[in-house]
Amino acid sequence: MAMNYLKPKHEATLLPLQTPECQATLQPLQPSGHQATLQPLQPPRHQTTQQPLQPSIHQAKQCMFLNYNYFIPGANANGNHFRACCVSRERKFATSGNIAKDHSLCLEYIKQRRNDLNRGNLGNCTGCQFLVDGAGEDKQQRSFIINSGLPGGSRCNAACIYCDSLENKNQSKCNYGVLDIFEYIRDNVAPQSVYLSYASAEIVLSEYCDEMLNIWEEAGWRGIIFTSGIKYNDKLRHILEVVDGVWLNVSLDCGSAATYKKIKRRNKFDAVLDTIRKYPNDRIELKYCLLEDYNSNEHEICNFLNICTEIQPKFVCLSNNKNENSFSQTKLAAALFFIKQAFSCGIKQINLTLDYFDDFTLQQIKEFALSQSYPNGFVKYEYK
Ligand code: SF4
Repeated sequence: MAMNYLKPKHEATLLPLQTPECQATLQPLQPSGHQATLQPLQPPRHQTTQQPLQPSIHQAKQCMFLNYNYFIPGANANGNHFRACCVSRERKFATSGNIAKDHSLCLEYIKQRRNDLNRGNLGNCTGCQFLVDGAGEDKQQRSFIINSGLPGGSRCNAACIYCDSLENKNQSKCNYGVLDIFEYIRDNVAPQSVYLSYASAEIVLSEYCDEMLNIWEEAGWRGIIFTSGIKYNDKLRHILEVVDGVWLNVSLDCGSAATYKKIKRRNKFDAVLDTIRKYPNDRIELKYCLLEDYNSNEHEICNFLNICTEIQPKFVCLSNNKNENSFSQTKLAAALFFIKQAFSCGIKQINLTLDYFDDFTLQQIKEFALSQSYPNGFVKYEYK
């Protein structure tokens, strides 16, 4: 049966999406002197210079993150730093302990960095996959990624074999927590410019779950909530039903209980399916992260796509475990099979997490899609 996908509002705005993995790439920092003083770090001199570069090397670049003004507090094992992008090579700032101050410093830094990139001064961003040609601009969106490194957040109740967040076991030292951030955004940021991502954590396990979801509903923010799906929550279902532009991302990554247990290290496959079936299907993205020795085979892929055919999630997403060193022939064959099979199952669109595939693999996938004469947009390439 053909799946009836609605055109999502967020697609029209071409927003980069966030995933838990992008936060999982964050490397825990070692405590250092500047952290002890809780002073924001100064951007390096080459990033603050206002001098135009020589015309011979000038080429304007823009960053998919910076254009959307990301503020990522609690972005390390200790939760006492914040940053403006998900890439570990970029700047981290010691928190001042005051959200407003940190947020404002972050926006100021983003402005400077964007100006530098526009002048072709790449600095720490050199070689980053999020850079594209052309001058960047402020998209007037304030993106907040809230994760489990903050007080009041809650760790995930799965234990995916590819998740770096599992290493972040330390309790946060930040003096503001998840609920403080919700209240700060509510009180200080125009709701229509907010895009909130709750990730690397399980919101339904937080002691502040009800309070946060109440604020979310009243503010009507767009955003995405990452959940394992192991625990169902009535309030979360309500939010999905009544707030436009908010949806749920569940990484199922398999099509059977046995494989789920191997990948998630929890025996909760049936519980997750039960949960997903209770939430509105047109607010769900079901993700499949390709893992070399676990799910890169036809049997698992077919089972997963059968589940998609039954549930009819709004999005089906194909991703990759970027911790595996290279994209093997096995995974490439699995990716192509996934796409072909999805098409024959009537799935209207596959979202491919652009930043988790190397250029060579992406090219192979694009050529394959072309050779199959898939309709435009069937394979959608997105920053996640
Ligand atoms: S270009 Fe890359 S490293 Fe630089 S700010 Fe953007 S995401 Fe971060």
